[in-house]
Amino acid sequence: MHRIHRLLTGAIVALAAAACRNDSAAPSSTPSTANPLLVAIARAGFDTAGARDLGDQFAIEQDILISKAVAARWAAGKHDARPGGPSFQWRTTNLVGQTKIYGLKVDLSGLASEPAWQSAAVSALAEWNNVGSSAVYLVQGTPADITIQAAYLHPDGCGVAAAASWPDGTNPGPTITVYTGFCGSPNTNSTKLRNVVHEIGHTLGFRHSNWHCRPPSCQSEGQAGIGAIQVPGTPSLDANSVMNGGTATVSWGGFSANDKLAVRTLYPRVASVVINSGSALDDVTGPNSWNYNVGISAYDVNGNYIPGKVPQSITLDHPSIAQINVYGQLEGLQPGSTTLRATIDGITGTAPVQVSTITITGPSSLGMTESGTFGGVVTGPTGPYQALYWTSGEHNPLGCDGQASCTVTGSQVWYSGEGYMQVVFRNQSTGNFITAWVPVAPE
Ligand SMILES: [Zn+2]
Repeated sequence: MHRIHRLLTGAIVALAAAACRNDSAAPSSTPSTANPLLVAIARAGFDTAGARDLGDQFAIEQDILISKAVAARWAAGKHDARPGGPSFQWRTTNLVGQTKIYGLKVDLSGLASEPAWQSAAVSALAEWNNVGSSAVYLVQGTPADITIQAAYLHPDGCGVAAAASWPDGTNPGPTITVYTGFCGSPNTNSTKLRNVVHEIGHTLGFRHSNWHCRPPSCQSEGQAGIGAIQVPGTPSLDANSVMNGGTATVSWGGFSANDKLAVRTLYPRVASVVINSGSALDDVTGPNSWNYNVGISAYDVNGNYIPGKVPQSITLDHPSIAQINVYGQLEGLQPGSTTLRATIDGITGTAPVQVSTITITGPSSLGMTESGTFGGVVTGPTGPYQALYWTSGEHNPLGCDGQASCTVTGSQVWYSGEGYMQVVFRNQSTGNFITAWVPVAPE
């Protein structure tokens, strides 16, 4: 079961506040901006222009209610109480996987009979795609990762404009429902756009920025079974967050700077793909060689490594020279040069690849005291190649390092009935090491 989140309207909240007001309270009026409580509220980051005095609380920015008791504590320099307005950007425990966030498919076909909502949804996808430096990239299509559909009324009544499900494992919340019977006002193309942007945020794991202090009396939504983790780097107050709850009648004004910071922090956009730490790749073809585990890493615009990213594609310009085998390793097929390309979230990194063969000459078997000489020759596209190390299964070093050939006895090679001779070359053009080996049997 997907947990459903509700978006209550500012209108309903304001109505509830009015209903709770003592009859003897002063009538609503526009207070002086010199009011010390309003000065404290303004210092806390709220726009107090147009603030309304509702008796025991102020209405700020239309739908944010801050009690005078809280404002008085702020005015006294005490911030022990949760601020009555929006705070921090928050995420759920689950997030969409880094391998999935780019290119999520959104099915809007369920909005075909609701052109205003459909238009809002199309615009909402574009707004998410334009955050900048964010890996969130939404496209219309099926099979859908997120389905946006229309219904008449939320089970809680006409005060709910839209609802969404939370991320499920590493998948986005699968469903957003918009309610055509929504009775809040205004209910314009602009508020619809803001609502869809907001609900998409929930499907990607963003909680209400003010979840812990919802108007009118700073109620907390609690952990709600989904967790509440503050996104690092977001500041203490953000009255402009699109993820504030209770904002179904607020017009779209763009993501706040901290909304964008939160998105970029959780879902950083790939800016570069680096293969093998930026070095050329050397691989050896032949039966007695090892294939190459290729390191492919994604980095953001600031050069920070992005964990969890995997390539959507890895290709070689000349498939006859090398391939990526079923184990994901680079496997040389014949001597030559080619280029490896790896693409993550639409960004491609490249690395030059050299494939060589190493031919090791020498006896296929040796007696315990019998002496044999092994040599090695590299055939490759670059070079020159320098023999660096000779090793065997039993005795190392063999005293042949840096030499083109190595003379050993069987006792230096085999052990427990088997043995081998291995040589390591350095490609002096690329700086890489390549190696191969031959089996040597006992006699
Ligand atoms: Zn919400």
